[in-house]
Amino acid sequence: MYELIKIKDNIYYIPGKTNVGVYNYSKNLVVLIDCGQDENDAKIIDEVLSKEKYIVTDILLTHGHADHCGGNNYFQNKYQCQTYATNYERAFVENPILEPTLFYGGMPYNEMQIPFIKATSSACIDLNKMKIDGVKVISLPGHTLGHVGYKINDIYFLGDALCGKQIIDKAHISYLFDIKTQLETLDFINNFNGFACVCSHASLTYDVSFLVNYNKEKILDVIYQIKKILDKPKSEIDVIRELFTVYNLKMNLIQYSLVGCTIRSYLTYLYTQKEIQPIIENQIVYWQKREAI
Ligand SMILES: [Zn+2]
Repeated sequence: MYELIKIKDNIYYIPGKTNVGVYNYSKNLVVLIDCGQDENDAKIIDEVLSKEKYIVTDILLTHGHADHCGGNNYFQNKYQCQTYATNYERAFVENPILEPTLFYGGMPYNEMQIPFIKATSSACIDLNKMKIDGVKVISLPGHTLGHVGYKINDIYFLGDALCGKQIIDKAHISYLFDIKTQLETLDFINNFNGFACVCSHASLTYDVSFLVNYNKEKILDVIYQIKKILDKPKSEIDVIRELFTVYNLKMNLIQYSLVGCTIRSYLTYLYTQKEIQPIIENQIVYWQKREAI
């Protein structure tokens, strides 16, 4: 962990809690893709960069989740670098309370106000203003609405648009905001022609199709399980409880919000696809598979 690994030519990455891309575009000047989870993480990443006497001039964020932008303050204070994200993601970087608020759907309790979920507020510029030669922005919505990837030469930095196999095997229901666009994004990624892909929480991958299919199969399995559960009318709480049981997940306050939020997104997707229907009875909203009604 935490060493500079060359991918090709002047493009590197630093594996860590969240992998960080390093593009050495001129002499000792580098652009980072994402910047670690918090100040401690950023310091360790910076030690690796300092060994090469690298100076950070810009940070390109894939999205505004705390584990991707939490180190931003540290790097901005040290290097006075510019940080870019899409406008939607900027709102989260500049107003970090939004992330636990979105996950919980109300004022988040203290257990959710931890560095992994709530970063320190930091400045961020509209990605449309980014003019770094050789960097192409690729829209990859689904995990979040404004999620992007970056292509530098023939290397892709995909952020959380693709999950690693180990994470999928463990989490089963990994965080997604918009299931429909995520499925479209997976098909889009499957057509990439390149040398290698850096995902934020996986080892360097040269076989993107395998990972795309693995991600897609798990999403389709979650959809299958929800539809099976909704053979009979169930409340959202029941769907969450039954899915946790199906996948043998451990319930706690953070998981309830993070996974619960993703399950609500699955329910929205199935409702929009006209596969499930709400039934309101005795002041409770139930969901049921349409063909079973
Ligand atoms: Zn994320």
